[in-house]
Amino acid sequence: ATPTALLVGTGRGAQQGILIKGPEVLESSRGLDTVVLDKTGTVTTGAMQVTSLLSARQWGGENEGSRLSRAKTSAGAESSEAIEESERSDSQLLRLAGGLESASEHPVARAITNAARESLGSTQGTLPPPSQFRNHEGRGVSGIVEGHQVLIGRRHLMGAHGVVLPEQVNGLISRAESRGSTAVLVAVDGEFSGVITVADTVKQTSAEAVAQLKALGMEPVLLTGDNQGAAQRVADEVGIQQVIAEALPEDKVQAVKELQAAGRTVAMVGDGVNDAAALAQAELGIAMGTGTDVAIDAADITVIRGDLRSVADAVRLSRKTLRTIR
Ligand code: ADP
Ligand code: MG
Repeated sequence: ATPTALLVGTGRGAQQGILIKGPEVLESSRGLDTVVLDKTGTVTTGAMQVTSLLSARQWGGENEGSRLSRAKTSAGAESSEAIEESERSDSQLLRLAGGLESASEHPVARAITNAARESLGSTQGTLPPPSQFRNHEGRGVSGIVEGHQVLIGRRHLMGAHGVVLPEQVNGLISRAESRGSTAVLVAVDGEFSGVITVADTVKQTSAEAVAQLKALGMEPVLLTGDNQGAAQRVADEVGIQQVIAEALPEDKVQAVKELQAAGRTVAMVGDGVNDAAALAQAELGIAMGTGTDVAIDAADITVIRGDLRSVADAVRLSRKTLRTIR
């Protein structure tokens, strides 16, 4: 072996913002034919924004006597009193949701805390931090804010906590998802309280990066915990044909294992805590330098700029380095 060449390779990488854990990493890039890409924060900016907020109170539902129908008069027209009440419940919902999410670093959480801070303004002070907090990785968060038990996340997280969802919620979620948004549900004290939709934008360089990876003979696969609609929108935008959506963190490792069992040699690219196990499982794990420490620790390579084109650069560099020692 010629370790010098490998060392030179890792040195070159560092100059290009590609941090390679050790010279042996370059060996593991041999024969890569598949690149699995996490969506949020990897292909997309991860700077999600709240696109709508609907508190259960303001929602003219059929659930008679429930909080859902309170904001409307019997005629269906909103009275000014009801509007005032619904505005109050909106800001109360944002305050509790923003308070809970202030303890999370997930892109969905950042979107919600930003929206809450903006809408509440400085008059109401900072967001109330949760006195108890639990992260349900890949599913959502729960905790106690101002004495209320608050739960935010995917539909099945609500089910797991015994929160009953009104009929209309399913349609609302489907509509948001078909637009490519992500809908998260909020429950307060065990009662369904609203829906917040968030959306993300694709990084400007992602489509070009995917084209480069394809040209390097690697088939891209988009892997995400997010819903099918949001995943498909991003996949279409960047030119990825294979999509695996609604994957829980444990499903992400499983997806990599299944590709490997099918004879694929896999590079996995991710940025989140939920990607760590899959990064370790892949033949080559690549973390976004903009991502979490857990992902960076689990990966073989870190690309400093969160630019997906650096992933193609890393593959090119590895191949070139290996050729010189063959
Ligand atoms: P990705 O694979 O795209 O990085 P994750 O696995 O981190 O996504 O999250 C999957 C889904 O879990 C999110 O789309 C969201 O619905 C829900 N989720 C995760 N964390 C949170 C949070 N802090 N607040 C609300 N929802 C969350
Ligand atoms: Mg991610």
